[in-house]
Amino acid sequence: EKPFKVTVIGSGNWGTTIAKVVAENCKGYPEVFAPIVQMWVFEEEINGEKLTEIINTRHQNVKYLPGITLPDNLVANPDLIDSVKDVDIIVFNIPHQFLPRICSQLKGHVDSHVRAISCLKGFEVGAKGVQLLSSYITEELGIQCGALSGANIATEVAQEHWSETTVAYHIPKDFRGEGKDVDHKVLKALFHRPYFHVSVIEDVAGISICGALKKRCCLRLWFRPKGLGWGNNASAAIQRVGLGEIIRFGQMFFPESREETYYQESAGVADLITTCAGGRNVKVARLMATSGKDAWECEKELLNGQSAQGLITCKEVHEWLETCGSVEDFPLFEAVYQIVYNNYPMKNLPDMIEELDLHE
Ligand code: NAD
Ligand code: 13P
Repeated sequence: EKPFKVTVIGSGNWGTTIAKVVAENCKGYPEVFAPIVQMWVFEEEINGEKLTEIINTRHQNVKYLPGITLPDNLVANPDLIDSVKDVDIIVFNIPHQFLPRICSQLKGHVDSHVRAISCLKGFEVGAKGVQLLSSYITEELGIQCGALSGANIATEVAQEHWSETTVAYHIPKDFRGEGKDVDHKVLKALFHRPYFHVSVIEDVAGISICGALKKRCCLRLWFRPKGLGWGNNASAAIQRVGLGEIIRFGQMFFPESREETYYQESAGVADLITTCAGGRNVKVARLMATSGKDAWECEKELLNGQSAQGLITCKEVHEWLETCGSVEDFPLFEAVYQIVYNNYPMKNLPDMIEELDLHE
């Protein structure tokens, strides 16, 4: 049977890491996957050299994943349309603010037999309300799309330190391609590594909500800067209340999501814990709290072109909750928004939460 041809769209910190994982497996299972994996790269010059050329000759993404050697069957391609030529599986892995443009460029160039997995964490918020990114991809491109989400700080996975993750995918009934369709076994073969354990489930909504909203909880950790004298108790309290709001959000807007996913899967509580301990959003947050600089300045200073997506999700979710008249059901989410966007004093956080709680 014809092996599945795989392309990864995205080459940032997580994009390159997942491309490494996928390329290792495509090389390891030649009976299942075509060995060459294309990785679409948003082209840029580093000291006069094209990033794609650096990746293809030195097998390193020196800007977004320095110090990690990439497999030689991973080919960087700056041409988006060319990178998905004859493809069977697309792995999306870009900061979510760029997804609408990528999808509009891909429209008409992706066959309906193609299957996709979104590794993005965020929502699409627009005229249609709040939408899972996997649903957005399905709607824009007419292809079935699942999600991958877990307690996965990219650098640790890239260094092959043990992690686990969750892939969620619903197998459609309408396969019209040659050979066989992508199923849970194929997805496990594509992502599972000895250092990256994969569980495959059906609950796409559950793992996507966790991934998107935990970044808001991590932003909340901004509010325990040393200067306020808050410590581990405050951090635990914030994560506890945050988890409650994540679950409430899922129940209100995505009733198909399953409550056990939040507790049992890597994408749930575990991701909340790891991101709050060492994610980029928290790093940006700490600098913001200690320096008094604004979030975007801190992002620029710390992340060298990477994106702290909690900042964007924070605003998107606030606007959606306002549209629905549900702001008061999410006191912590709202407090974060007010502190980040309207300069409310951080030290007032406990009172802000309590005041909002009174409305319940
Ligand atoms: P990143 O934060 O490293 O972002 C940088 C990437 O964005 C680079 O590849 C850059 O070329 C690209 N870019 C810049 N401008 C662009 C444009 N105009 N159009 C398209 N691309 C552009 O990205 P990442 O860490 O790979 O994150 C991808 C997704 O994975 C995000 O949704 C993130 O939340 C999620 N995620 C990240 C991690 C992590 O630890 N980094 C872990 C799990 C999930
Ligand atoms: P940050 O974007 O905050 O680094 O979170 C990474 C992540 O999603 C870990 O699972």
